[in-house]
Amino acid sequence: MLLRDGRIARIGVVDAAGAETLDVTDKLVLPGFVETHIHPDKAFIADRTDGLRAGGPTAQTLVADLKKRFTVDDVYARARRALELAVRHGCTTMRSHVEIDAFVEMRGVEALRRLQTDLAGMLDLELIAFAQEGIFNDSVTKDLLREGLRMGLKWLGGCPYMDTDPRGHIDWFFETAQEFGVPLDFHADSADDPAMLTCDYIAEQTIKRGMQGRVTLGHLCMLDVLEPAHRAQVVAKLKEAQIHVISLPATEMHMKGRTDTKRTWRGVARLGELRDAGLNVAISTNNIVNPFTPYGHPDLLRQLLVSAMSMHLGNLDQLAWLPELVTTNAARAIGIDGYGLAEGCRADLVVLDARDAAQAITEQSEKLYVIKRGRVVARNTRTSELLSA
Ligand SMILES: [Zn+2]
Repeated sequence: MLLRDGRIARIGVVDAAGAETLDVTDKLVLPGFVETHIHPDKAFIADRTDGLRAGGPTAQTLVADLKKRFTVDDVYARARRALELAVRHGCTTMRSHVEIDAFVEMRGVEALRRLQTDLAGMLDLELIAFAQEGIFNDSVTKDLLREGLRMGLKWLGGCPYMDTDPRGHIDWFFETAQEFGVPLDFHADSADDPAMLTCDYIAEQTIKRGMQGRVTLGHLCMLDVLEPAHRAQVVAKLKEAQIHVISLPATEMHMKGRTDTKRTWRGVARLGELRDAGLNVAISTNNIVNPFTPYGHPDLLRQLLVSAMSMHLGNLDQLAWLPELVTTNAARAIGIDGYGLAEGCRADLVVLDARDAAQAITEQSEKLYVIKRGRVVARNTRTSELLSA
């Protein structure tokens, strides 16, 4: 493979005269990992508050309180640590949420925009103006979100279950997205009461407003509790709307099913079924060391293993295609065309110390090289010595 001018110039045996070379013989080369749903602005705050306890405050309440005291420098330092860890683990493109509300105002936006510039050589970072606290609970959030879009944030992100009028919430996001010409992302249907389902309404609005292919949905845990016939109807509607589905398995495994007294609900989206139905599906890290996921870690190879374990995707044929969920599918979800290992694609790559995907996922193999626009931006080694018995 020959890389030139930030692109894959040639696949196969090439004349490397005059070029810098990297020996990747018998190593697994994948497109660089793509995070599509991640919250670096509230990373690394698990030690500032209690974790989830039966009968105690929700993660939402715990973080909302902490957020009031976030400063720009505080967000910057924690987010930078998260982003650098993500790059070290193979991420070369990231679409990140950044919270905008009465508690944190624009401080997170300021910090993340600085990081867009400061880390530009190693990571393409796009931001979602995100309403984690809803939009009808105070008088300032809607205006602040619009301000974020005017500042150049590329996506608008809603959270319908945070408002008592979820459909009014969804309507406002579609209207505002159309006004600014930006695509939409929603945190949707993370609970387990089918009466609260919103993804069907989001799909209807997507079609009605001609936004097919420009809407991503994170979570969709609720699909798992719908009756099969109802679920099939909803999935068909999601497909018609060309919705991209992003599952966040580490968070679901920590948060969901805590009140079940008989069988603990896993709470993950049914990605295998959705993929079979023809939807574009991806997975992402979501939370990093906070009350939503105290063990959250921006390592998408780890998320592949969590997905294999939690979604019944661990057969060898499934392990072979799982990397699509953090590479080509994830890129497509955020509007990047022509992503992959073909000639002409951007030279964003990760080289794993494994012969194939099954080994990489099973052994959590080291990411030997992370390459951004043809340049090595992270190099990792792992040493191990088995002493004689
Ligand atoms: Zn999220």
